[in-house]
Amino acid sequence: MRNTFRLLLAGIAVALLITQLRAEKPVAHVANVPAPVLAADAIVIPVAGVVKAALRDDFDNIHSGHPHHAIDILAPRGTPVLAAVDGTIRKLFDSRAGGLTIYEFDLATERSYYYAHLDSYADNVVEGMRVQQGDVIGYVGTTGNAPANTPHLHFAITILPPDKAWSKGEAIDPYPILVERGVTR
Ligand SMILES: [Zn+2]
Repeated sequence: MRNTFRLLLAGIAVALLITQLRAEKPVAHVANVPAPVLAADAIVIPVAGVVKAALRDDFDNIHSGHPHHAIDILAPRGTPVLAAVDGTIRKLFDSRAGGLTIYEFDLATERSYYYAHLDSYADNVVEGMRVQQGDVIGYVGTTGNAPANTPHLHFAITILPPDKAWSKGEAIDPYPILVERGVTR
């Protein structure tokens, strides 16, 4: 009789355990899903929210008697400017034409990414700082020779020369690069 009771208790315990195990359905760990990993060669379109279709190729246009050798990305004043690639802030430079500018070198020190006419730099940005693509580094504006009523980011990519001088290098057209490998943030 006592053994029967024990067996009954054991049976109930096993039944409870099975019920509990069945209740543990797989849970979707929504909060733990990391942001989609970008392809290794992805480039962030360097103005927040701008899609590929909004880009125009004005690399070869003549601006003030010189080939543009950059693209202008139109956006409202104050729109965040984003690091296009992982890299280092090499130089913060205030120039007559470019206004407040940033020169960012990629991690391999092969290319320089140039952001001009900024309204301001992001608060924490300093020379030598490491940035990840998508980080806010400044804000769209009209400093330098940009028309006051046409805020835009002047964005250029150059192949750095052997001496890695920040202001030199050979400009390449950012437009096909952004259209092929660009992602909107
Ligand atoms: Zn421009």
